[in-house]
Amino acid sequence: MPPLKIGLIDLVSKGPANTLWAKIMHANLASIMPQVIATWCEQEGHEVTMICYTGYEDLTKELPKEVDLVFISAFTQAALLAYALSNYYRKQGAVTVLGGPHARCYPDDAALYFDYVLGFTSRSIISDILNNCAPQRPVGIQLSAGKQPAVFCGVQERWKFIEPTLKKAPFLQIVPMLGSVGCPYTCSFCIDSTVPYQPLDFQTIRSDLQFLRTKYKKPWIAFHDPNFGIRFEDNMDAIASAGPPKSFNFIAESRLSVLTVNHLDLLQQNGFIALLPGIESWYDLGNKSKASHITGVEKVNQVSEHVNTIFRYVPYVQTNFVLGLDSDSGDEPFELTKRFIDQSPNAFPGFSLLTAFGEAAPMNLEYQKQGRVLPFPFHFLNNHLAMNIKPRNYDWVDFYDKVIDVTDYAFSAKALYRRFIHTHGMQTRWMNLMRAISSEGWGRLKFYRQIRQNLLKDKSFRKYFDGETQELPAFYYNIIKRDLGIWWQWLPETALSHNANAYLDKTVAG
Ligand code: SF4
Repeated sequence: MPPLKIGLIDLVSKGPANTLWAKIMHANLASIMPQVIATWCEQEGHEVTMICYTGYEDLTKELPKEVDLVFISAFTQAALLAYALSNYYRKQGAVTVLGGPHARCYPDDAALYFDYVLGFTSRSIISDILNNCAPQRPVGIQLSAGKQPAVFCGVQERWKFIEPTLKKAPFLQIVPMLGSVGCPYTCSFCIDSTVPYQPLDFQTIRSDLQFLRTKYKKPWIAFHDPNFGIRFEDNMDAIASAGPPKSFNFIAESRLSVLTVNHLDLLQQNGFIALLPGIESWYDLGNKSKASHITGVEKVNQVSEHVNTIFRYVPYVQTNFVLGLDSDSGDEPFELTKRFIDQSPNAFPGFSLLTAFGEAAPMNLEYQKQGRVLPFPFHFLNNHLAMNIKPRNYDWVDFYDKVIDVTDYAFSAKALYRRFIHTHGMQTRWMNLMRAISSEGWGRLKFYRQIRQNLLKDKSFRKYFDGETQELPAFYYNIIKRDLGIWWQWLPETALSHNANAYLDKTVAG
């Protein structure tokens, strides 16, 4: 068989981006799996062109041309752009494949627009597609290996695809790495809760780190593990054997309970400079933190003390909260978060609105059974542009009032000043400031205020939020049209809506 011409598109952005954060950080958010698939395809003798779309490129110029087969990787927020691109490529005669979180969360919907939709992907699945690269229409084929691969290509193998992507990051280049996949914990809201924990080869971690020391004076590395440090000693040994202390700057997401003083000491010695523990809520989902048995003010005090301890070892900590959980009611959860912001002024607060991503997590089935999942177009499902679950204990306007209040508090001049003076190091201070004044802080605040206004002034807008109509408000329609730009013409008309209860329907049908 002659070699195929293959295009690989990693959609970090869902459309043109113009924020400082996007300019500096989007290229650092590239996914690992598209790089792995690109490497596998090359190893099978095919000709591969890969691009990572950060929102700053002219996509029409960058897209791989005259290809036989196109792999697109997308989070749900970029699904509509992915669907439009698939349509475009199919019209040129190419076969299209979707992978990434959207393919896992909404496989049935994605199969309407792609020839192949990949869940967990193994090398043999990719080989099969390469060997029988036939169009599958009108409904594509869903393929899954049932579990994550045991072996991923390491950084050295992927370097050919990592390097050009990181060149797009103007100041700070962060290499994506994996120490493990899955998680041994079972938080029912989490996509990784059903993926068995599997450490990857520690020898590969070591040799990849050694390789990176030949590329950068002091490499920055982000571990993409959902829960870094489960095999803590093994990870630390691999890192420590890769170079003298402080040879690297590491970023990782970890449970608070992993971050004990002993572990923090080792993390500091090995160059960990940013940690992202999840707090989620003061009442629920507490099995991620040490404070699983306590709630409310007591939990705020304990978590805050813990986070302040982390800062004695690590200069940058982002604490993640979910707003709108069923366990929350009234003012108290929001007031507790404000209290935490006061007590841990240097922690960067990351807020997410409760979102059910299709069949990502077991809890989503419950939301669908309760008839609470709203059909917001995928374009808005990124944890902040829309909350696609009707809150259990809040009216929408009341909820947005509280979200606006806590966001305003977290990114007020006073909070920014306190975060600035309590944080050490120019890089971390600058990072906090950039995130606050960019789309994440002030940008979101402006958007939330607009939503609140629409809820009050526009009856049909409100009806959509209450689930009384499925007709998409013009406000959202216009945003999609604007963001997709010339790709709007390629978006299949049906792609603006999806079955919000597909997971339930499928489960009932058996
Ligand atoms: S500990 Fe973190 S990664 Fe693991 S299941 Fe819970 S939320 Fe997911």
